[in-house]
Order: sequence, then C-alpha cells, then structure tokens
Amino acid sequence: MLITIDIEDHSGLDGEKRFARAIEPLLESLHSNQWTATFFVVGSLARIWQSELRNLPSSGHEIGLHGYSHRFLEELGPAGVREDLRRGREALEDITGTEISGYRAPYFGLTANTPWAPDLILDAGFTYSSSVLPAWNPQAGISSAPRRPFRWKNGLVEFPSPVFGIGPIAIPVLGGAYLRLLPGSLVKIAASRARNQIGSWTYAHPYDFDVNEPFRCYQGQTWLSSRLLFARRRHMLSRVLGVGTGSAPKLADLASDAEFVNGLESFDLRGARPVAGRRRL
Ligand SMILES: [Zn+2]
Repeated sequence: MLITIDIEDHSGLDGEKRFARAIEPLLESLHSNQWTATFFVVGSLARIWQSELRNLPSSGHEIGLHGYSHRFLEELGPAGVREDLRRGREALEDITGTEISGYRAPYFGLTANTPWAPDLILDAGFTYSSSVLPAWNPQAGISSAPRRPFRWKNGLVEFPSPVFGIGPIAIPVLGGAYLRLLPGSLVKIAASRARNQIGSWTYAHPYDFDVNEPFRCYQGQTWLSSRLLFARRRHMLSRVLGVGTGSAPKLADLASDAEFVNGLESFDLRGARPVAGRRRL
C-alpha cells in the first residue's frame, strides 16, 4: 500500500513552519529504508518548503497537488477551483521542474455537491485524482462510489480512499486520525485486505507526527475534536510504516498504464447523495 502524505500547515501561524519539522522523522525513515511515497502538497506552501520539495523527485518520491489554498471545493465554487488548480500546479512545477499529474482535494471534498470537479481537474492537466471517500460521512463522501480505483466519465482516473466497514457506513481506517486512534488489531485487518488491491494508499498529515506541539484548540474545532487531533501522535510513524509499502506502484504510473486504466469501472455522480455538512475533522 502506497504511503501518501498531505503536506499542509496545521499551525495557522504564518512563518512558524511546524509542518516542515513535524515531517522530518518520516522523511528520514523513508530515506533510510529507501522507501518512496507520494506527497500531495498545498501549493501556497511550495515556496517556504522549497528545498525539501526540490529534493523529493530525486529520492524517487512523487509530488501531487493538495489544492493551492487547502479549501473545500464547494466553498471555492467552479471558477475558484479552476484558478486554485492552475495556481497550485504552476507553483509546484516551477519549483520541482517536474510535471504534476495527481490531485487530491482537501477534506475529501470531491462529492455529489461538486459534480463539475472531475472536468475541472482533467482540464487543468491532471491525469488522476485521489479525492473521494467512498462511504457515508458527515462532512464528505460518496457512498455509491466504487471502493477500488475507477474512472470518471471523462476518463480521469480516481484512486478513492480505502475504507473499512459494512454497507454505506465505512471509515478510512488506514489514514489520518483513524490510523492513529483505532486499535492496532483493526488496523491490521484493514491493512491486510487493502494491501492486495492495486492503487490502495494510506495517508497522514504533518500534524499526525507532531509530537512536540503543545495542546491548544485548533481554529474551528471543539475541545474534543482538538484532543483527538493531538492524541497518540507518537504512534503515528510506526503505524504508517507498518501499513505502508515502500515499493508500491506510483499512482501517476498506474494512471498512465493503458491496461490498468482500461480495466477500471466507469462511474458518474448521477443519483449520488448530496453532503450536508462541512466540518473540518
Ligand atoms: Zn488536507
């Protein structure tokens, strides 16, 4: 299972660069194991993270875009998303000198409320998206979406988040807060199932590894949800390395493999259930 990291700034404090320090132990572990991963980077951070960003491709890592501004697609609207994709891709390509072909929407924000998004992502030059939570969720998710890689009607390849559960109720056990907080036995079962599937991935954010951050309520979060965002961070590195595979195929390579793409199920959003809320957890 591919390790993916969403590079975003959780501190909200300009210039603090906590995210860059928080991710260092993971980068070192990947390097010493000679493992590769995919980094979905928020475009507005490209300049302040440029020396690290520049080094990623030469270490075999892949870089994708996680939005220029890390905002909900629905909040930005079609015109805003078009601009966000253009600016973000340009920011990353300017610094890395490599073509950016993958996109991950912030907050799994590609839902039935944003039916225009797959066309905009393809138009912006991306060949794949990794933006869908294929389950019911209070803030995002498309419960009718396939739970394995699929193709949007326009040909854009989608690598949805692996989920674990029954029927429409399933959770992305193998990433973020779920991966930190849930019992190891459950993570193990979910990982052994997902591991057999080509194009499956785990995900984490810099804050998931930030063991030195003093507790505070994040902006827009309740005390309880902030506690969950801080809990068990010291276990995250071993969890990610435990479920991930350092030699998993890159999503960009799969998306450009005609045989793989031709074998994918096609899906569109007709009849998909709209999403009600937009809480940031
Ligand atoms: Zn994010």
